[in-house]
Amino acid sequence: MDKLGIHSFVWTGGTTQEDLEGAMEKSHRLGYRLIEFPRLDPRKFDVAWLARRLQDYELAVAVTMGLPLEGDISSRDAAVVRRGEEILSDAVAITRDLGGRKLGGILFSAHTKYRSLPTRQGWDNSVAVLSRVADKAKQAGVTLNLEIVNRFETNLLNTAAQGLAFIEDTGSDNIFLHLDTFHMNIEEADPVQAIKLAGDKLGYFHIGESNRGYLGSGVVNFPAIFDALVASGYDDWITFESFSSEVVDEDLSIICAIWRNSWSDNIDLARRAKAYIDDRHAEARRKAEAARTP
Ligand code: MN
Repeated sequence: MDKLGIHSFVWTGGTTQEDLEGAMEKSHRLGYRLIEFPRLDPRKFDVAWLARRLQDYELAVAVTMGLPLEGDISSRDAAVVRRGEEILSDAVAITRDLGGRKLGGILFSAHTKYRSLPTRQGWDNSVAVLSRVADKAKQAGVTLNLEIVNRFETNLLNTAAQGLAFIEDTGSDNIFLHLDTFHMNIEEADPVQAIKLAGDKLGYFHIGESNRGYLGSGVVNFPAIFDALVASGYDDWITFESFSSEVVDEDLSIICAIWRNSWSDNIDLARRAKAYIDDRHAEARRKAEAARTP
């Protein structure tokens, strides 16, 4: 498929120029057309250099992030909420400066295992901040995509239905859903129904196996997922995401609880993932076509 991306943590958790260069080179070489960078810290690399190298490799880029506790916009503490708004505004600017059009991830709360229930005021604070950030992002040509993640990684939005209610409260036409098969497998009554429900509010999509390892090595029903994506007319980026203890990032690996080694050979992993996704997507399109043919 054309719009296939890969998460940079398949390659590296580092942000040195050499780390980023290697990640781009391998993504390009294996036929991926987009690379996703999480938690980019502009103090650690040269934004203009990265934008140029992305163009050289003909790679589109998506930026994802999760808010830190000290910038949790679903907090009831006004100073913490303000800090979160600054972090989000910076992330929009970085996405724009890299030539990206999508900012995704856990933009609406901290990315953490909460030890308390979400609050009404926290929801309202998050809605208010994101509707303002979405306006600025729109001027920058960047959409906000709320990643619906499982209960151990946020307490605010765990299902697509919750995400849609949240988006409606913002009143923004620049906020979309970022769905992920790994998380949907945990939280949704039926991932197929979730994709249908999202409809044209689906803005970005992560393909990950239930154990976050090789596609096909877990319980996610990928034929049904691709049927649903084709049926809903989703024609935007799909990004392969997989984690192993082989690639460690101090923050993200710990929050995502990547304790085990589910692969060591990331070239083999990425090559097989692309073939797997291309096959499932082509099958789904052939089925849809055959079903329409009298
Ligand atoms: Mn994801």
